[in-house]
Amino acid sequence: MRALDSVELMPGPVKTEAVVLRSMRYGEADRILHLYTPARGRVSAIAKGVRRARSRFGGRLEPFFRLRIELHEGRSELLTVTGAQTVDGYARLRGDARALDAAARACDAVGRLFETTEPHPGVFNLLCRQLALLDQHAGGAARVADSWASALAFRLKLLLAAGLAPQLGACASCGEREHLVGFSGAAGGVVCAACEAGSFPLGEDAYAFMTAALARALTQAPAAGDPALGQVERAITATLEHHAHLRLMPAVGRSC
Ligand SMILES: [Zn+2]
Repeated sequence: MRALDSVELMPGPVKTEAVVLRSMRYGEADRILHLYTPARGRVSAIAKGVRRARSRFGGRLEPFFRLRIELHEGRSELLTVTGAQTVDGYARLRGDARALDAAARACDAVGRLFETTEPHPGVFNLLCRQLALLDQHAGGAARVADSWASALAFRLKLLLAAGLAPQLGACASCGEREHLVGFSGAAGGVVCAACEAGSFPLGEDAYAFMTAALARALTQAPAAGDPALGQVERAITATLEHHAHLRLMPAVGRSC
């Protein structure tokens, strides 16, 4: 694919890679898709006749498919799907309820945190890597805490891509580098003992997890115990609420 194809903003044909975030029934035979693309962020498209048995799209316009897709752009914000080829269908994760649930939460987080057409190619790559990771481990005996750690590492990287990475190197209120004992969503990071009013406790393990997860590749997400992961999730939630006015689904499902 030539780079120019995906940044073409004039009406007409658009060729791009995309991950299907959501796929909703529309009318008798159509579907409305939410797609995440490298160069155009989140776009909505209609796929006509896709629910007919002989549709040329087959079953590939389902959630989590990574596609090479052709869209027609008219005057409306809703593009029309004119062609689609599978890059990766992540077939293994489709047979594993826990992996499917995790994939749905990952796609939901991307769609809500990056809901505009502003391009974030790094987010597209991150989502593809997370889906590939879920696919790779699907059907296995991964520990529950590992799934949680992986989902939180993914969210931390999304925060970083959104420019919302929590400040971890020093107190987010006063710059103190020692005695960092809490986390404050309002301050945007860790806080010291003197600034802890309005914060909640953040233990050493949670701190170490966040630092390592942000520094490492997704495939090398660190491990941590449940109490630390609970604090990390709370820190992510507080950051999103204060700085993006956004509340995501919990990182993992209750039944996981
Ligand atoms: Zn301080």
